[in-house]
Amino acid sequence: MEQNPKKTQRSWRFTWEAQSHSPNLRLFLFDSTTNPKSHCKSLNVSIILEKSQLLVTWIDGDEDDEEATGKEEIVVSLRVPVPRVLLDAESPVNFKALDDYIEVRLVLLLPVDHPLVSDFSLAIDSKENSAPLVMGYDLKTLSLMGGVHIYCRNCSFRLTKEELFDFSEMPSINWRESADNWFGTCCCSFGGISEKMVVKYTNSYTCSSGLCLLSATTVLLSKDDLVECCILSDGTGNQIESSLVLSCDIGGGELGSGSSEETFDVSHENGGESVCGKVDDLKQPCLDKASMPGCCVHESHDSNGSFQLEQELTLDKKLLLDGFLEDVFMAKASNVSKNVDWIEFACPECSSPLGAYPSGVGSNGKPIDGGIRLFKCYISTSSVSGGSSDVFRKYTLERMFTNQLVECAKEELSFAVLVKDLTTKSPLFQIVILNPNSWSSTGLCSNRDEPVSTLELSPVVKVLISDCSSSVVKKIDEEVYILKGQGEELIELLTNASKCLPSSCSYLQGSHVSSMHL
Ligand SMILES: [Zn+2]
Ligand SMILES: [Zn+2]
Repeated sequence: MEQNPKKTQRSWRFTWEAQSHSPNLRLFLFDSTTNPKSHCKSLNVSIILEKSQLLVTWIDGDEDDEEATGKEEIVVSLRVPVPRVLLDAESPVNFKALDDYIEVRLVLLLPVDHPLVSDFSLAIDSKENSAPLVMGYDLKTLSLMGGVHIYCRNCSFRLTKEELFDFSEMPSINWRESADNWFGTCCCSFGGISEKMVVKYTNSYTCSSGLCLLSATTVLLSKDDLVECCILSDGTGNQIESSLVLSCDIGGGELGSGSSEETFDVSHENGGESVCGKVDDLKQPCLDKASMPGCCVHESHDSNGSFQLEQELTLDKKLLLDGFLEDVFMAKASNVSKNVDWIEFACPECSSPLGAYPSGVGSNGKPIDGGIRLFKCYISTSSVSGGSSDVFRKYTLERMFTNQLVECAKEELSFAVLVKDLTTKSPLFQIVILNPNSWSSTGLCSNRDEPVSTLELSPVVKVLISDCSSSVVKKIDEEVYILKGQGEELIELLTNASKCLPSSCSYLQGSHVSSMHL
């Protein structure tokens, strides 16, 4: 009966869970083989407050086999660290043995997300790494650093040629909509000014050497700012750019002639069937004069303005306006164009992934706009990765994905997202948000009275995950596109996280219940 109790007891997993606004803390305690309902006799649970531990004891024995093993009963005791919470010491500890886990419920004085509790926790360093990801913080910190190099987080290889000083936030907006708003319904009121604004706007958010544009998930750098070995050197950049403009103008002319509001809508819903046709619609209010009698009599002025806009917008800027060059980390369908291929960009030293860049018609595999998007979770601003001077140390693939997912769902529960491969457009997995306001902490139990570091609850999003082959087709609220490498990494993370709950609690409607750190 007694095989190797120490080893066996080591494999007991504890997972604490709490919900926002609720003064309760729930523990799942389980290993992969024991049925506590029939094996854990005389189960007892007590709190050792001064050590922030739960002491869980029982007598190991099989009910059906009591006579045979009666004299070899083993007393099992497990110590489970209790996370930093405000326990109500006067409330009783509730516990019960179930088929595949022991459940313990504790009562709290205040919910884990209560402002008093969070203020207290944030003052403690260990909590710092789970602080929210805030773009304003990154921008401010980077700007104050006075000269920043960017390194591969995995191998500390320096990626930038010179220190960067100029940082700017890339607003997460729908360029297309903004442009349309500026133009209004009639060109004569704002037309000329708007065109200049669009040009100015695109110019300020186009990558150029020395400028570092930040989005929620990426750092956009000019390829010229990266060390030579990072990307094939390009002595013909100007030639490529002008040929792009040429090919686009030809296309634009064909598609633009006789275009109507109807064709525009169709192409928009298809995620940008024709880039040139869409951009051409910027000047549509002017061309479509028949539908606006009594307006736009100043014909020569109008066509002149449109002509200037066409001249000033190169293909990359048109793609930028249509939103096809943003959100490569997690792109929505409206940000995906068949005219843009995203090429994965890896570290020249250790080959680990770093980000991606857009490539397309005539760009010969080089970035369309000369810019490389580095994912914040793969880079560091310090040669000592993870050090306190690394602005991006809080970013992980998991947290970046979770934050984007929650933003996408906008507080809606049961929000179903189909995640597809950005390159092949084939489905990778399906994820449903169950609860974006959970807190969790997990680990393996110790049976010895050894000092353990304080356990912290982290904010998590509870999700249902299924691969697309096994799941029944359900209602999908949103489709997003990510690169395959990141997709596979996320599937592994989600699969591992689903093992933090006993199997009776980790399946629902044929999907795995999992959680992701926010
Ligand atoms: Zn007009
Ligand atoms: Zn590297």
